[in-house]
Amino acid sequence: MTDMSKMNNRLDAFWMPFTPNAAFKANPRLMQFASGFYYTTTEGRQILDGFSGLWCSGIGHGHPKITEAIQKQAAEMDYSSPFNFGHPKAFELAEVIANQFPGDLDHVFFTNSGSESVDTALKMAIGYHRMRGEGSRTRLIGRVNGYHGVGFGGISVGGMVNNRKFFGSLLPGTDHMPFPYDPTVSAFTRGEPTEDPMKYLAELETMITLHDPSTIAAVIVEPVVGSAGMFVPPKGYLKRLRDITKKHGILLICDEVITGFGRLGTPNAATYFGVEPDIITLAKGINNAAVPMGAVVAGKHVYDAFINGTQAGVEFFHGYTYSAHPLAVASGLAAQAVYKEEGVYENVQAKAAYFEEAVHSLKGEPFVEDVRNIGFAAGLTITQDGDKIGARAAAVFQATYDNGVMVRANGNTIAIAPILTSTEVEIDRIVDAVKKAVNTVS
Ligand code: PMP
Repeated sequence: MTDMSKMNNRLDAFWMPFTPNAAFKANPRLMQFASGFYYTTTEGRQILDGFSGLWCSGIGHGHPKITEAIQKQAAEMDYSSPFNFGHPKAFELAEVIANQFPGDLDHVFFTNSGSESVDTALKMAIGYHRMRGEGSRTRLIGRVNGYHGVGFGGISVGGMVNNRKFFGSLLPGTDHMPFPYDPTVSAFTRGEPTEDPMKYLAELETMITLHDPSTIAAVIVEPVVGSAGMFVPPKGYLKRLRDITKKHGILLICDEVITGFGRLGTPNAATYFGVEPDIITLAKGINNAAVPMGAVVAGKHVYDAFINGTQAGVEFFHGYTYSAHPLAVASGLAAQAVYKEEGVYENVQAKAAYFEEAVHSLKGEPFVEDVRNIGFAAGLTITQDGDKIGARAAAVFQATYDNGVMVRANGNTIAIAPILTSTEVEIDRIVDAVKKAVNTVS
């Protein structure tokens, strides 16, 4: 049997993630090369990356320092078991990461993706209470429209309907706080809306009273809503959330898979919003994505409950064959060095206002119902075409691609996440391509 005889099309052999295979087959977008700000397709077209890969390649593609680090590491040591063995660079990278987080967020557990980070963090939170003799604290609270990856834990606390509804009854004991955005008040807000955050957090207090704090392990949120379409919660939201959770002994998990490492012009959202969560989940920018990697950063109290605990606490019975994989770690150290040496976060700080102006110049263009932005991230709500959710945004995405720029469509949103080293030139090109696109679609 030849390799193609079983199927009529190779494009069916790869069952693609979060992609309708049939539609893709009709119109494949096949990337072959990537360098700096640009992809090159198999047809030789250059595509400007307006989405940092998938929020993950913040310093662009094929950075020579990362390529070199991976090649060198592969030759030196390809793999070593992370269970009861270590390699020095893993400890070094853990320290480099921990040093960027506030307070006692000092302990880094390595994973291979954002989804693994989330499920690790949820288990850490439940285990933490159990180790401290509060085993009744098992409930988890997420948010409507939250995205926390695709593990069973992540979709249970997550609040995106399509990601949940096909997959059974999910984890018991999960609740969802309200989505913190009101388009009737906040459309076209620049940065953080100024509504009272309690408008969205009062319901959390009701839930806590209803269930009693002694049953609740953790609250998990994205500091900025990412995958659901880039929504910025009102000013002071995260601080109030921190106060409420702390008062009731509930751990706060911030899912910083998108906001970690420069998207807001700071090392992380905890620093940006001046909040110290108990646990933080990371992936993507941790190593710029040439090799899969994620991590969870835990406060000292969380680590101590497992490692210096009085009960069974001698280890966290959890881990992955590829935790702290040498190639991921080597690329992580290289990426972290580049962030510093090349002033990557400073570039976002310096150009965020320009980016804000640029994306808000789309106000008044056809079908642009809302524009939201923070740091180097923006979301546009595209007017829905009748009852066809997402159809027009998908058309805008395709037209933008036809104009040589990659953005992302999700539901009725177009999201933009420029490479963090972008200049005014790249920002203008991205926004111009979207502007042209919304004027092309019907
Ligand atoms: N959490 C958040 C906030 C994310 O944005 C994502 C991915 N976009 C994930 C978790 C899941 O990450 P991964 O796709 O690497 O599993």
